This record gives sequence, C-alpha cells and structure tokens, in this order.
Amino acid sequence: MSDKSAHDKSVEKSISISANETENSTGDVRSNCQGVVPLSSRLEPWMLRLCKGTQLGSLVQEYGSPLNILNDRAFRRNIARLYQVAESQQLHFDLFFARKSNKCLAFLDVIRELGSGVDVASEPELLQTLKKGITGNRIVCTAAVKSPQLLDVCIENNVTIVIDNPDELRIAAYIACQKNQVAQIALRASEFEHEGTTLESRFGFPISMLRNHFYQLMKQEHVSAAVKLVGVQFHLDGSCVEERVSAIRELLPLIDHWRTEGHPIQFLDIGGGFPMSYLEDRHQWSSFWMEHARALMGQRSPVTYQNHGLGLIAVNEQIYGQRNCYPCWQSPVQGEWFEQLLDSQCGLNTVADAIKKRNLELRCEPGRSLLDGCGMTVARVEYRKQRTNGDWLIGLSMNQTQCRTSSDDFLVDPLLIQSQVTESSQSLARKRPPMEGYLVGAYCTESELLALRKFRFPRGISVGDHIVFPNTAGYLMHFRESRSHQFPLAKNIFLNESQNTIELDEIDRS
Ligand SMILES: *Cc1c(COP(=O)(O)O)cnc(C)c1O
Repeated sequence: MSDKSAHDKSVEKSISISANETENSTGDVRSNCQGVVPLSSRLEPWMLRLCKGTQLGSLVQEYGSPLNILNDRAFRRNIARLYQVAESQQLHFDLFFARKSNKCLAFLDVIRELGSGVDVASEPELLQTLKKGITGNRIVCTAAVKSPQLLDVCIENNVTIVIDNPDELRIAAYIACQKNQVAQIALRASEFEHEGTTLESRFGFPISMLRNHFYQLMKQEHVSAAVKLVGVQFHLDGSCVEERVSAIRELLPLIDHWRTEGHPIQFLDIGGGFPMSYLEDRHQWSSFWMEHARALMGQRSPVTYQNHGLGLIAVNEQIYGQRNCYPCWQSPVQGEWFEQLLDSQCGLNTVADAIKKRNLELRCEPGRSLLDGCGMTVARVEYRKQRTNGDWLIGLSMNQTQCRTSSDDFLVDPLLIQSQVTESSQSLARKRPPMEGYLVGAYCTESELLALRKFRFPRGISVGDHIVFPNTAGYLMHFRESRSHQFPLAKNIFLNESQNTIELDEIDRS
C-alpha cells in the first residue's frame, strides 16, 4: 500500500506505561485470582508492566472487550534460539512459521526482516503473506485441503506445495502443465512405525504406500513432466521426540533411494509441535492432576465446573482416560527439545549427522512455541452472581472461542486487574469479600464457561475489573474464534516497547 506510512501514523498511539511498573515481582499481580489448586502462568516482563500499569482499562474501553495485546520480542527470541541450535550442529536449517497459530500480520514483518519462511494453511493466509513481500520460495503450503485456485497461486509464485494425497498431486500437476510451469512439491508422509505400533494419521501418504507405489505415483501423466520433488515432509501430533526420530529413520533411506532415481530432494521438513510450557512450576502441575483425580473420586471438593473430567473419569476409585489438555508444564521445551531431537541416535549416527552427511536441509514449521510470550487476552468483568451452592459466576464480555483450542480447557490461572479504586481499604474489604467460582462467557449455552477450573478471588472481584488470560498468542486467541450471536471479533493491538506505542494490527484494518 502506498499510503502505508501515513496510515500507520493514524493508528499508532502513544501510551503511558505508568505507575508501579518498575518492580518486577509477580506476586501481587497473580494473587488476586488463582485456581483453587493454583496453576501460575509464566509471564513476560511486558505483560507484567501492562498489568501493573494503569492503562489496560482505557485500552479495553477504546478497542472493546476482549482485546488481544501482542508483542514480538519473544517471537524474535524463540526463532533465534532454534537457528542457534541448528548452527551449533552446522546444519543447513530453515524455519517456516506456521501462520495458522496466529493471524496477526505483524509477525510476518518480523519473518521477512529475519529472512525466515512461512507455512500457510489456506489461500487467504498465502495471499496475505505474498502481499507482505515474502516471496514464494520462502513459503510452504501445507493446507489440509487445497482448492485448484490455491494450487494455482502456489505454482504461479513458486511456493512449495506439501502434497497430501494422490488426487492433489494429479491436480497440481495438471494445473502446472496448463500453465506451462513446474510445481515445486514435497510429499507429506505419515503412519510411521514406532515402538511396534503405527502412528495413525489422517494426513499425508502412508509411508508403506510411498515405499511400494512411489514409482506409479510419480510416473503419472503430467506428474513426471510438471512436478519437481524438492522435499519430504511430516508433521506429527504431540511433541514426542522419539516418534519424530522413528519418522526420520524410516524416511532417510527412502529419500536416498528417490534421489538415485533422479528426484532432486533438497530438504526434510519435520513439521511443528515443538513443545512449550505455560507454567513456571512442575509441582503445581502434578498437584493439580492429583487433586483433580481426588475430586473425581469424591475425596475432595471439585476443582472443575460440575467436576468436569478434562478427559478423565473415575470408576471404582480408579482413574481412566487421557488428559484432553495441552501439557502446560513439560520438559524439555523449545531449543532444548530441538537439541535432544538432533542428538538422538539414528542408526549409527545422530539425527543431525544423518541429515548432514546426506547434504539435506532440515526444515521445520513451528507455530505455538514461536509465539510463547507474545500475547495476552484481556476482558472486562460485567457481572457477578452467586448460585445457591455458594459458587460465584463471573460474567465477562468475551466468549469461549476467544481463548480456546481443540482441548477441553486452557488450564492457566488468569490474572485479575482491579479497576482503579480510591476508597479506603476498610470499605473496600466490605465491598470486595473473598469469592470463589467460575468465569462465564457471552454465548447463550449452559456450557459457555471461559475456563472449566474453579478460581478463588481472595480480594473479591467487581464489575469493571479486568481478567487477563496470559500467553494466548499461540492458537488460543485465534484458532477457534467465531462470530456467533454476531459479536464482533476481538481487536489485536501490538505493544511497541521501545517507542511506548500501541498499534492496531493490519489484520484489523481494512
Ligand atoms: C499446525 C501445523 C504446524 C504447527 O504446529 P505447532 O504445534 O503449532 O508447532 C506445522 N505444520 C503443519 C502441517 C501443521 O498442520
């Protein structure tokens, strides 16, 4: 856009990060709201400063509730760390940020500046990325379903298409032929053998199929002429290092073989799933699940709404099922996890050596873990009411889809920011008695809870206070957001720390 700089000026505004911002202790901010079994969030300094300042309320007033506030400093740090790890192994390495984990366009500016790549999952994501000046050779398209239009844009711009199935391959090849161009593709492989079982997946080509029918696949009409196989990709659910090692061990000999058949395979892409932690303390994490199990067995009061199991169920004093929640505390994470993967044994070599000695480029597509520390979601308290059982329901201007993934719950304790008060502590204590209960949202269903966990507000909670959901940039703020009841979507603003300004993300300007 030619008028970009003028436009930027009008949306950028100065804010004063004022008040008691200097002190760096987190105790105060967290103590106003905790789970009845606490799960205390990791917080970035910029989040703490905003929460301890005085301007959160006016920002929500101006942009609406809920409001997503973001910052790219941790994004840069998280990316740099992965390059560092690869560099220390002298690996030919590249990173493609999985855009679907957050829709804000400001992250693309950082990617372009750093020279990293982008993994796109839809045509709008691709068009926006190209428009941002990121060239096609810095983009991979992993969309789960690809329309002919999407394939066309990919081929036109030299975007590497990660092919999921035979139809997609055939159609991409046909379109490339029609355009008299060549489609750059990577094959997505799945259903690897791991510890005696098959890693089930709905994505990609079963590796057994690639092993047995690769030739027929690549020799089809159009395919041999209009398709260039430049890479092999997989993306596994979860974050298990050993599963990824199994996948790499199965793929490397196939890559060797396909190269001898003349396919110019340059890279192995290991997808995303790099783990991160939301919590500071592993003991809180284990205590929570212990207490939750006791609650499910009727040995203590519930820690979740109506004793929701979060994937678990108690039968005869036994707990069954699997936690349907992101592992909010885990180790190793991020760079350390990546190191562990590269140092894993792969035949007689380490994974890093096996890749290096083949002159392969190692690629990855992390989303969530790059956004660790990059965002938080703020909503205003609109009502409180007490149920007959004594539990309080706290109503926020926000709905469930604005802080959710496909899991049962986001298990991290939110922060409670009290509205500015001038009254004496005595009358305050009278007006703000300690309360316990649940955060509920704006969609008209009985199940519309913003969090399933029960919270304690030792200094009460009032209309006009704000609840902050920390560390929501990866998936939580955008992946499921919907406009049911025609509520507008939450606005997204970036905090520029060095200039002390706030800027509306381009995704919200049109
Ligand atoms: C979602 C996705 C990613 C990103 O996964 P994270 O868990 O956010 O790192 C990468 N690649 C593909 C193909 C995906 O579908």
